Amino acid sequence: MRIVLVGPPGAGKGTQAALLAKNLSIPHISTGDLFRANISQGTELGRKAKSYMDAGNLVPDEVTIEMAKDRMEQQDAAGGFLLDGFPRNVPQAEALDDMLKAESMKLDAVLDLEIPEEEVVERIAGRRICRNDSAHVFHVVNKPPKRDGVCDVCGGELYQRDDDSEGTVRKRLEVYHQKTEPIIDYYRRQDLVVTISASGPVEEVTARAMQALGVS
Ligand code: AMP
Repeated sequence: MRIVLVGPPGAGKGTQAALLAKNLSIPHISTGDLFRANISQGTELGRKAKSYMDAGNLVPDEVTIEMAKDRMEQQDAAGGFLLDGFPRNVPQAEALDDMLKAESMKLDAVLDLEIPEEEVVERIAGRRICRNDSAHVFHVVNKPPKRDGVCDVCGGELYQRDDDSEGTVRKRLEVYHQKTEPIIDYYRRQDLVVTISASGPVEEVTARAMQALGVS
């Protein structure tokens, strides 16, 4: 399957993407994770992306589209993929359509995660992520790790993303409404959108998503 996951920051895209990709045996491709890996490896791409990310803005399309395309062209993505955080605006959605068309491929679904705005800031402000694996996500109140600052799954160090501060989250939300939400209409016109509520326990949201995708 070829799936795009959309939703505001804090909707749990990364968590759900990792679980769904595992259930469906397809790679989870997160442009945010790819940028963060480039930043921690000190690459030129990471250097270019960092200032945009820290300000809560989108990284320019020419950089992002090229990076996403390279990743989608890798062997493990030949049979399908789950995109998390890409596309994030209409030009990226058009570029993705062109890429797929060139390979005679199509998207199967666009899963839209809905969450009330007031939950977003609270979810993100308390979020702590494992340095070893961004799918290991905790929350200081809702899902505290057994030991402060230590991942329950692998013992890795938990940290707060640089762009998870309250001011940056508000900017990211504004960017989401302005730039990313229009892709939902774009995909509605292709009859690809399935919307589910992202509120509630992680397992319930995953079950809802699997059902909405017709794979449960
Ligand atoms: P995420 O991990 O998906 O929340 O992404 C974190 C940040 O990476 C975003 O706030 C953007 O600055 C940047 N980013 C991730 N994906 C994209 C994309 N498709 N286009 C532009 N910027 C992106």
